[in-house]
Amino acid sequence: MEMDSRKYKGLREAMVKNQIEARGITDAKVLAAMRKVPRHLFVSEALMDQAYADHPLPIGEQQTISQPYIVALMTQALALNKDDRVLEIGTGSGYQAAILSEIAFRVYTIEKRRTLHINARRLFDEFKYTNIVTRYSDGTKGWEEESPFDAIIVTAGAPEIPKTLVAQLGMGGRMVIPVGDMFTQDLIKLYRDEQGIHQTSLGGCRFVKLVGEYGWGGD
Ligand code: SAH
Repeated sequence: MEMDSRKYKGLREAMVKNQIEARGITDAKVLAAMRKVPRHLFVSEALMDQAYADHPLPIGEQQTISQPYIVALMTQALALNKDDRVLEIGTGSGYQAAILSEIAFRVYTIEKRRTLHINARRLFDEFKYTNIVTRYSDGTKGWEEESPFDAIIVTAGAPEIPKTLVAQLGMGGRMVIPVGDMFTQDLIKLYRDEQGIHQTSLGGCRFVKLVGEYGWGGD
């Protein structure tokens, strides 16, 4: 397989400049991670040339890798520090987890579809992302044994915020999650302090369905 060639580095640099910096993402750690992670290696070979384009792409199982800007926006909203432990629901291609792993101390990522879980695990091993821990299960239940987390990111659209996940968010913790109907959602940011849980909206978005017990149900 062709690895990280000059061509892809050029496309990646243009992506960061034209899609991410141009739209107001300023967190230096986020920008550095997006410049570094070879996004084209997280999609199928047939789609590699589109990997840095301004839209989501199919990753099989009717799922998608998010648009680069959305990945940057959600990552910036988590305000990550280098000793943070992050929980991700919806491993998918593994790209978002790789971005998080460049910034945080450890990433715990859960995927409910077996093929996607296996593919992502293989990529993390191959690319030596040694601080990413994967799990094949219903992420709406969170990861109780490893909680509380400094940050939680849900990369599939939920009908409401799963209370299980809020319960696993530590003091000072931040969470981002798309909440809405099956077609459009609001990207919600939550944080916990001594006063309780606070919620703000980062704007509209469109994600695939969060399935499972505290999602839309089913699988
Ligand atoms: N973060 C991913 C985006 C994946 S799309 C990336 O960077 O590529 C959303 C993913 O959420 C899909 O892979 C889907 O299978 C997964 N998903 C949906 N419901 C889930 C659940 N309850 N638990 C874990 N994963 C779930």
